[in-house]
Amino acid sequence: MNCARQPRQTETTCPYCGVGCGVTATYSQPSDNSQQIPAVSISGTLHHSANQGRLCVKGASLADTLDHEDRLLTPQINGRTTDWETATDFVATQFSQIIAEHGPDAVAFYLSGQLLTEDYYVANKLMKGFIGSANVDTNSRLCMSSAVTAHKRAFGADIVPGCYDDIEQADLLLLIGANTAWTHPVIYQRIVAAKQSRPEMTIVVIDPRRTATCDIADVHLAIAPGSDGFLFNGLLAHLVRTNSLDHEYINAHTEGFQNCLQQAMTTAPSLTDTAQQCALDEAALRKVFDLFATTARCVSLFSQGINQSSSGVDKANSIINCHLASGKIGKPGATPFSITGQPNAMGGREVGGLANQLAAHIDFSDPDAIQNVADFWQTKTIARQEGLKAIDMFSALHRDEIKAIWIMGTNPAVSMPNNNFVTEALKNCPLVVVSDCVASTDTTDCANVLLPATSWGEKDGTVTNSERMISRQRQFLPIPGEARHDWQIICDVADKMGFSDAFNFDNQASIFREHAALSGFRNSDKGKYRLFNISGLSRLSDTAYDNVTPRQWPVINNPKYDQAPDSSSKRLFSNGVYVTPNNRARLTGISPQLPQASCSAEYPFMLNTGRIRDQWHTMTRTAKAPQLVTHTEEPFINLHPDDAATLELGFQSLALISNSYGSCIVRVVLNDDQQPGQAFMPIHWNQQYASRASVCSLFPAYSDPLSGQPELKQAAISIKPFAAAWYGSLISRNALTPPACEYWCKIPCEQGYRYMLAGSQQPENWQSWFEESLQLNDDQLIMSSANNKHFRLASFNDHILETAFFTAPVPPVLNYQWLQQQLGAQIKPGAQRQMILAGRPATAGKEKGKILCSCFQVGENCIREALSAGCTNVEELTEKLKCGSNCGSCLPEIKDLVRNNSKTMPMACC
Ligand code: SF4
Repeated sequence: MNCARQPRQTETTCPYCGVGCGVTATYSQPSDNSQQIPAVSISGTLHHSANQGRLCVKGASLADTLDHEDRLLTPQINGRTTDWETATDFVATQFSQIIAEHGPDAVAFYLSGQLLTEDYYVANKLMKGFIGSANVDTNSRLCMSSAVTAHKRAFGADIVPGCYDDIEQADLLLLIGANTAWTHPVIYQRIVAAKQSRPEMTIVVIDPRRTATCDIADVHLAIAPGSDGFLFNGLLAHLVRTNSLDHEYINAHTEGFQNCLQQAMTTAPSLTDTAQQCALDEAALRKVFDLFATTARCVSLFSQGINQSSSGVDKANSIINCHLASGKIGKPGATPFSITGQPNAMGGREVGGLANQLAAHIDFSDPDAIQNVADFWQTKTIARQEGLKAIDMFSALHRDEIKAIWIMGTNPAVSMPNNNFVTEALKNCPLVVVSDCVASTDTTDCANVLLPATSWGEKDGTVTNSERMISRQRQFLPIPGEARHDWQIICDVADKMGFSDAFNFDNQASIFREHAALSGFRNSDKGKYRLFNISGLSRLSDTAYDNVTPRQWPVINNPKYDQAPDSSSKRLFSNGVYVTPNNRARLTGISPQLPQASCSAEYPFMLNTGRIRDQWHTMTRTAKAPQLVTHTEEPFINLHPDDAATLELGFQSLALISNSYGSCIVRVVLNDDQQPGQAFMPIHWNQQYASRASVCSLFPAYSDPLSGQPELKQAAISIKPFAAAWYGSLISRNALTPPACEYWCKIPCEQGYRYMLAGSQQPENWQSWFEESLQLNDDQLIMSSANNKHFRLASFNDHILETAFFTAPVPPVLNYQWLQQQLGAQIKPGAQRQMILAGRPATAGKEKGKILCSCFQVGENCIREALSAGCTNVEELTEKLKCGSNCGSCLPEIKDLVRNNSKTMPMACC
């Protein structure tokens, strides 16, 4: 008997974005040791300083992502299930043979900001310390490596000086290339609350698109794509012209001022020039520059819009220059702030998980420092020069110079630029090992060896968020199948490669202690002082590690490790002492560059990319929660209505997006959020969810020469209508291999799956086309028009609706919410079955429309109807429908509807 015990609670950390919210999981633990997943409820941890109880809809939906469907649960070699002993033997032997034959640089690891710090540490130690190559890079290269390089250039180390409190305390907040409302929603919620309590706080959004974040902006500067360097050089020049520099700070705490100033004055000779370079209204630009000049408490929060650029380092330094030259750093409410994308991008940087770092904020520039790490690790084979960064790594793989790669917890076949090239490289590589918790991804499909890793809720270790806060991710779920922790898998392989003494860790706590000890090892040498120092945590007992509370680094010899974070570690550089050899921050002369991509007659549109509100990365987890799919169901391109009219692309039509690197077919969504000539596509879709919607296939591998971060925000594309001869919709209780057609996309729902389909040529016989790929039961109901252009089919198994298919020359108008509810329902022959073929219930008017509030599944149509019925503002809508009353992520879109209410038509609704 499976008696449930009293509910238990575990405090852990959200696995999605770099905000690093504390999550409390409440669950009943079965009394036996079964692998059964307990019922789990999720709430925000009240006393976690990052979120103080808040969660966004992704974090709040974590409980719906814990099932074992699609999980990789056993090791596999060449498609055959095997045991761990055989799998780790195979990996160790193959790696050892390749290294013996071709040298250590013939192998590589590609890691992930999703890994825990302990996993990251042992992977980095194995490759750089013992294999002897620095070919370890990570998907964080795609996310914030430009900010890392800019920090090192300006401060002497990769330091985010500020903290989240600064964002709330700022009187002027610049949000640059950061759609915070969707990408870091809890920070956005904190900004909204701060603005409500201090309406005088001014918020400026600098972004080519009008994003959801603009909802709270006092000013939106719709900057020309990629021209940020011109804007911030212009700001520095404006500070000079308006006598707004802090010369005392410049003289006492910086170097390089004259060169920096000269570059700024040369490239920004007047405000008019800067406005023209950035395609901005001069008066609006002057207003923002004057605000910066006259406001002491100013935070410049920047993200991928700055970093994902072929000149991302310069752009980040141009922002930092303005803060250093005006003394707006190291003070409450005053800092440049790079916010990271992933939950443990910062932890990966701490252990040295980038190819141009060694370990513990030590790079390859100082032979003595390298020797210190070699001494600490007790190794003679330490790497002494930088390895290959991601783009170069996959190019070397393509050239067969790298002959074995081990990819952990990431999906480069989707996320790398020019991903068709990357996929080809992976398919041709002699040995591709992938550790993942998901069985089928675009990357696992290229692997020779699959190693099942634990997932969120099963893993146990630490992560560091964007404000240097180290938090625990704790295990509260049983480990399914044969899955193992990443650090255990790596240590097993290291053992079999002959490095057992260095990898005989008992548990994750012992790895953390070693990582913390390394951070403090010989870390007091004059002129070589490293601010990343958590040696105060190096003696945590296993129990103390289990119970450790969130804390910001540095943590130096602080025996009271279970108290609140030191106030001294909360905000760095408050004393103006930097970690450069002369302790001065470096002002860097910037020569701004535009993106490598430029539009042409052949490729006249500039494509921008980003995340959408409710999905994360390549959807492997978030697509498991149907409520997260309802907000945006299909891959899409946002186009300005004027462009769509010129291209003869109508509402809901499909478009073929292409350039010389790749092509996509996606749904057209019209709005004027972007300027004419610009377009936007999300990053999430891949071949598991759509036939051709992987946006990175359209991006060449241009990268920043200093950071190696690819330019993933600007690609020149052409857009054409996809000439569909037919459109189809398929609903099914089970996941299917879609029938052959140019466009399909898979939409998970509560009861099964929906597939949207389209093709340029109509099959001669729908039923045979259909049955070529899908096995249907004989109990079928079919309706077909005489000209074969309209065809509908429903298939039943023991009166249960299993599958239904609808096709027409235009997208069939169906009530999907109702249809999906019929999947799995008993439907006897008769009128009820006819309704299935009709695609809607007998009584009309129950469609919610696009779901805006994912938490309470409130659709756009319901909100429009409430507005028609007299609601006049968001508060009244919330009172009536509850929309927006939980995480608040939908509030910008609801406010848009309220604003546009006078232009909208009443609609039938639920
Ligand atoms: Fe997770 Fe949302 Fe918090 Fe990011 S903002 S850490 S996705 S709950």
